[in-house]
Amino acid sequence: MEGQTSQMFSRNVLVLKSKASRHAIYGMVIAACAIVLATMLVSTYHYGGLSFESLLQAQQENAALWLLDLMPFVFAFWGQYVSSMMAFEAGAMVVDQTSELRALTTALEYEAIHGTTHDALTDLPNRVLLRDRVVQALMIAQQEKSRLALLLMGLNEFKEVNNTLGHYNGDRLLKQVATRLQSVVREPNTVARLGGDEFAILLPQIADPEGATDVARKLLRALEAPFTLEGLTVGVQASIGITVFPEHGSDVDVLQQRADVAMYIAKRDKSGIVVYSPKLDQHSPQRLTLMGELRQAIGGNGLVLHYQPKVDVKTGHITEVEALVRWEHPQHGLMQPEDFVPLAERTGLVKPLTRWVLNEALHQCAEWKQHGLDLGMCVNLSTHVLSDPELADTVTGLLASHNVAPQQLILEITESMMMADPPRVLQMLSRLASIGVRLSIDDFGTGYSSLSYMSKLPVGEIKIDQSFVIDMINNDSNAKIVRATIDLGHNLGLRVVAEGVETEEILERLKALGCDAVQGYYICYPLSETYFSSWIKQTSWSTV
Ligand code: C2E
Ligand code: MG
Ligand code: MG
Repeated sequence: MEGQTSQMFSRNVLVLKSKASRHAIYGMVIAACAIVLATMLVSTYHYGGLSFESLLQAQQENAALWLLDLMPFVFAFWGQYVSSMMAFEAGAMVVDQTSELRALTTALEYEAIHGTTHDALTDLPNRVLLRDRVVQALMIAQQEKSRLALLLMGLNEFKEVNNTLGHYNGDRLLKQVATRLQSVVREPNTVARLGGDEFAILLPQIADPEGATDVARKLLRALEAPFTLEGLTVGVQASIGITVFPEHGSDVDVLQQRADVAMYIAKRDKSGIVVYSPKLDQHSPQRLTLMGELRQAIGGNGLVLHYQPKVDVKTGHITEVEALVRWEHPQHGLMQPEDFVPLAERTGLVKPLTRWVLNEALHQCAEWKQHGLDLGMCVNLSTHVLSDPELADTVTGLLASHNVAPQQLILEITESMMMADPPRVLQMLSRLASIGVRLSIDDFGTGYSSLSYMSKLPVGEIKIDQSFVIDMINNDSNAKIVRATIDLGHNLGLRVVAEGVETEEILERLKALGCDAVQGYYICYPLSETYFSSWIKQTSWSTV
């Protein structure tokens, strides 16, 4: 690199020098012409003509011509000097600026790579980087016939902290926890944040399972001293599940799932640390088998979408439908998203789940359009997928393959989840907005988004959380929140949707408050495709 720069430098110097030298030569030629002309004039006026003798005499006797004769040499010398100086100065400037640009590019590249592999809140490695490191460590352990351990740690009752002290303090606590964990876990070990209150620790070289338990004890001890948040002391307890290669599994998914089972038991029994053993599966059969079954359901045809309409308050038109995922489980019946979406988020299945939902929803959207039903399609996105760099391309590809216009797709992101990682969310939402899809903030009012953050987001809509809407008739403070949210949304230029509209009375009240659109059981329950198609044919709400 160094050699290339100096070569480039010398090349540039030569080019600039030759340019400057050319101008010095022009100067010399002009000076020579001036000498000839001046000699001819002097010869004509002072020595009586233009003969060779008179020209020679003028040159020999006229002191002014002698001075003029020196000019070409002055030009030659001056040109050479100035051209060298200029060329070197310009060359040096170019080299300086090139290295500045190079440093800037390197910093930007580093930031971009760092952002996809690290958690924005704690700056710890994220799920993606952890997975990569576990895969590498497994390869080495397999070759060297050595052991490694994966520890999964969850904080007990972290939700309480968030609910009582707010998300801001919840985040501060997570940062402090991360710092303490890092002080226990040294190279070559890795501590990562998987999301929410979950951390993972990879120990790539351990002599026996007991070694992993020792580290787990140290981690719990590090959290024993209370944390300080705004003058309050807060105690934090954690539960750790441990799996060891080769005893408990030989691939990253199995090790992670089994560590999750062990952590679940540790949390349930308040036992602090639990090392996985197959016996544990009997205590949490549902949890373990569900993970495997969910993977199959996503790959096969175990999932279905139900659709719930959104109605424009002023016109009474059904403008969009929201796709809500269900799992038709052979034993447990129809499972609701809250029973399996969090599981998908924890185990890395959320990416294929989201892809499945997007594909199915867009397929349905295109099919309805073919039958003359032109409806926008709303799909819920988990914030876990917002850190997936492929998301925008996946969405673009699916829109193209189903021939659906981007404006017809509305992606809903829950407000509280958005606040877990504001810069990353902003970056991804901007990318999604740039491909033309519409964005909506779901469950608005449950997070703590600041006005300045909100005004930066490229969203077009907020959905007031149903908890405020459902009892706004009897609960005065909820009614005030709904009114204030509608005004806030309108002041920010956003469309405001209310979810959880269960009665006509609520609908009328929302209409009076200027709410733009409504969704809820009063209009229609979420229905399977077959039921939705017959409902829409006989409903009194109009279709566009
Ligand atoms: P959400 O996006 O806020 O969806 C609205 C939820 O409220 C739905 O619950 C819907 O059935 C329910 N709902 C609608 N109208 C009323 C009403 O008038 N009263 C009451 N009490 N409830 C009403 P559901 O289908 O159980 O979904 C729950 C949440 O699960 C959704 O909340 C969404 O955050 C998540 N979810 C659903 N489908 C998906 C999905 O495909 N991907 C992801 N990541 N999350 C999903
Ligand atoms: Mg939603
Ligand atoms: Mg909602």
